[in-house]
Amino acid sequence: MMQHFATINDKPVTGGASFAVLNPATGGEAGRAPNMGAAELDAAVAAARAAFPDWSSRADEALQAACAAVTAKIEEHAEELARVVTLEQGKPLNGLGSRWEIGGAVAWAGYTTGLSLPVKLLQDNEQGRVELHRRPLGVVGSITPWNFPVMIAIWHIMPALRTGNTVVIKPSPHTPLSTLRLVEIINEVLPPGVVNVVTGDDRAFNIGAAMSAHPDIQKIVFTGSCATGQKIMQSAAPTMKRLTLEMGGNDAGIVLPDVDPQGIAERLFWGAFINNGQTCAAMKRLYVHESVHDAVCEALVAFARNIQVGDGMDENTVLGPIQNRMQFDKVSALAADAKRRGKVLLGGEPGEGLFFPPTIIAGLRNGDPLVDEEQFGPALPVISYGNVEDAIAMANDSSNGLGGSVWCSDIDAARRLAGRLQCGSVWINKHGAIQPNAPFGGIKASGLGVEFAEEGLQEYTDIQVVFA
Ligand code: NAD
Repeated sequence: MMQHFATINDKPVTGGASFAVLNPATGGEAGRAPNMGAAELDAAVAAARAAFPDWSSRADEALQAACAAVTAKIEEHAEELARVVTLEQGKPLNGLGSRWEIGGAVAWAGYTTGLSLPVKLLQDNEQGRVELHRRPLGVVGSITPWNFPVMIAIWHIMPALRTGNTVVIKPSPHTPLSTLRLVEIINEVLPPGVVNVVTGDDRAFNIGAAMSAHPDIQKIVFTGSCATGQKIMQSAAPTMKRLTLEMGGNDAGIVLPDVDPQGIAERLFWGAFINNGQTCAAMKRLYVHESVHDAVCEALVAFARNIQVGDGMDENTVLGPIQNRMQFDKVSALAADAKRRGKVLLGGEPGEGLFFPPTIIAGLRNGDPLVDEEQFGPALPVISYGNVEDAIAMANDSSNGLGGSVWCSDIDAARRLAGRLQCGSVWINKHGAIQPNAPFGGIKASGLGVEFAEEGLQEYTDIQVVFA
């Protein structure tokens, strides 16, 4: 199978050993990635550190032009990258799959290119002139998960580059191949050392942990689970790293009595099942008012029943397999438990290999594991409620606070409820619709800081105030 290279200082590196990356649809090898250790990580950090003085001192227009060139490169290789994502991640080429993911990466890269953080004049009078500058940090370490490997890599890399930082990125061992290729491609238009990539299987040596403690990395931007994010925060403390942590979610959707069940069914489905539920801000619990509960469930099941599940490489596939065995086992166990507690309306039984059909289970309540835990898979619990105050209390009864949604015909009433949900983003009559001009991040245990927009860009800088 194809051996992929890492790029350090614009040079291909294998690091000697390699590990297999599996295609979740077939169980076969999608390719092999370098299994790197401390020496390769140090080399990547040293390259990024050496590239920093020149890169960070470039004029803002030059940084912007370089970011535009990076965006164009990704667009040029969009189809190739989409195929690698499908091969290693499992999502379909079409629909909200890998072509959509790469399209999103291009859109985010382009939007971030156009952002800027001009000097802010705080005071200019006879007492003096006070200017607020945004200075780059140095080497940014990016650690990414396996659900949207290219899009999340771009969310991390582009704001770092745009603000004059250099990067060492480490993808998930489950999906390193698309990031290896992405970094190779963008190095065609960047100076050596500005973006480097390291990969490993997290067994003998945990690269992410070493990055979090590395003295020559100034910031970690991390997207992944809450447990790992907390470990990063701990190991980053001695070196006072800046942190952006985008962690897990257990987003609630609240359906009010005045909805049109047929009208919202398709959006409810995609709010929960996008990328097979393996999406941080997917709807993971659905609270439905008792007066419309049966009608909403019926409409949702009618839509979900016709979804074609299969190998993502098949152009007709709508949902692929679960990405890896550990996640498949977790979803299977949560669904099996929920079957004993509630009523299965659709699916519920694991399929062949890593395939798991869209599953909807009603009759559940807070305290049931499928409701309380982040399933990160295609199994949606439905909880009936009688009083909207109870629904809000149940939605907020979680250590997570990433996203939430309110489904309602009366938009003003929905807006009032939105303000009472404890989460970083609230959508009305949709779920999970993030966009590059709106800051995105979790509250409570779901994270620290935000990504996207000017507020996200600021997190790649320190403030320096100049008093004259
Ligand atoms: P994970 O935490 O297991 O792994 C994420 C990354 O961290 C991987 O690259 C992994 O190799 C690395 N890592 C492992 N141990 C580490 C350590 N000790 N120190 C530093 N890095 C380490 O997460 P995952 O299973 O890949 O992703 C699924 C999780 O990601 C879900 O909880 C999901 O909600 C979350 N997620 C959040 C967002 C968001 O924006 N909030 C987006 C996507 C996914």
